[in-house]
Amino acid sequence: MDNLTLSFLHTVLNEVQSKHDWKASLDALFTSLRGSFVYDNVAIFLEDSRTKSMDIAYARAMGRGKTAEADAAWGELVATEVLAKKKLVLKEPKSKGRDRMAQPYLLGMPLNIGSKFRGALVFIRFGGPEYSDLHIQIASLQAFWSAALIERRDLLEARAELDSVQRQMRLQDDFVSTISHELRTPLGFIKGYSTSLLRQDTTWDEATQREFLNIIDEEADRLTRLIEDMLESARLQSKTLQFKFSPVRIDALVRDVATRVNTHHPELKIEFNLETLPPVLGDGVRLSQVFENLFSNAIKYAPGSKLQITTKSLGKRVLLSFADEGEGIPEDFLPFLFERFYRVPGERTVTGTGLGLYICKQIVMAHHGKIWVESVLDEGTTFFIELPADPTL
Ligand code: ATP
Ligand code: MG
Repeated sequence: MDNLTLSFLHTVLNEVQSKHDWKASLDALFTSLRGSFVYDNVAIFLEDSRTKSMDIAYARAMGRGKTAEADAAWGELVATEVLAKKKLVLKEPKSKGRDRMAQPYLLGMPLNIGSKFRGALVFIRFGGPEYSDLHIQIASLQAFWSAALIERRDLLEARAELDSVQRQMRLQDDFVSTISHELRTPLGFIKGYSTSLLRQDTTWDEATQREFLNIIDEEADRLTRLIEDMLESARLQSKTLQFKFSPVRIDALVRDVATRVNTHHPELKIEFNLETLPPVLGDGVRLSQVFENLFSNAIKYAPGSKLQITTKSLGKRVLLSFADEGEGIPEDFLPFLFERFYRVPGERTVTGTGLGLYICKQIVMAHHGKIWVESVLDEGTTFFIELPADPTL
């Protein structure tokens, strides 16, 4: 091989490698070699491992033939033959009439991907010339590189899938440990205080008995809430949760929820900045749940801060925001906040399962709305919800 050929091959390979998309790499490959190897159409057929049928994975019309994929059926027979024989197939036209398009010269090369014959690379020349030995050698090189590019595509796809499965598994793992902790803590209290109350050898005065019973009562509520959240998130994920839509006044609803939250958490200072809004077509119970989750997060993650609730009418939509002045959330974690089981990593004294915001998002999406977050470290976090106004009013 002379120097010129070597440097040409080097350029081709470089160009092919530099493309990120495998089809773009194939385009680069077939275009760069067209100077030394002329053809009208090229197509790659890959065998579907399940159905065993030959599918067109790539097709390109270069010259005088017609356009790409729809017309690649011309190569299917040759491709099937290549795969059956596991070797090169050459086909020349039987008759040599005047109509060039009726005289296909076909060349099919096997594609050996991941050490298995998995498909064929097929070239067509209308009206010849026939393929010389040199042409066949160049075509073999192209088949070799095409196979390498397809293998790279398969590997990249497999890696992406693996990454996502691994991520999900990590979240599940964390979830199992969080959930067992979260279930055990209230159970531990309930068991501990009821055992104490039942002890034969001790008598408790009435005030102590009430105190213990109150703890048992509260912890049982906590367990119930946790189990409901888990079931709810499972139903939301499988889309089996039923919504009951009716016109809802969001400003009134948010005030009701705030009043309820304040009876249990009088320490949370809530400031309202409410504009009267057009009604929303929504499920009041589910929307209350969204607000409760945002209140609960403010109490847990921005203790001592006030919470400012603003509503705004934007014509056909309404906008709500819940702004606290807590520590805020580092920017890197913001994209994951609404994922199932996600909790911001770091030292943790506050309990939770990472289901709250996931549930919020699913509910808001079922209302054709949007929920998002903005946060500045040491300044605070704001959650926004946008919902469409009731279109029937
Ligand atoms: P759960 O709501 O299921 O009890 P959780 O509160 O941990 O558990 P989410 O409500 O989904 O789960 O919140 C996810 C994470 O987002 C929290 O763990 C917390 O780190 C962070 N976060 C949520 N709200 C705030 C906020 N107002 N300020 C700072 N961080 C927040
Ligand atoms: Mg929460």
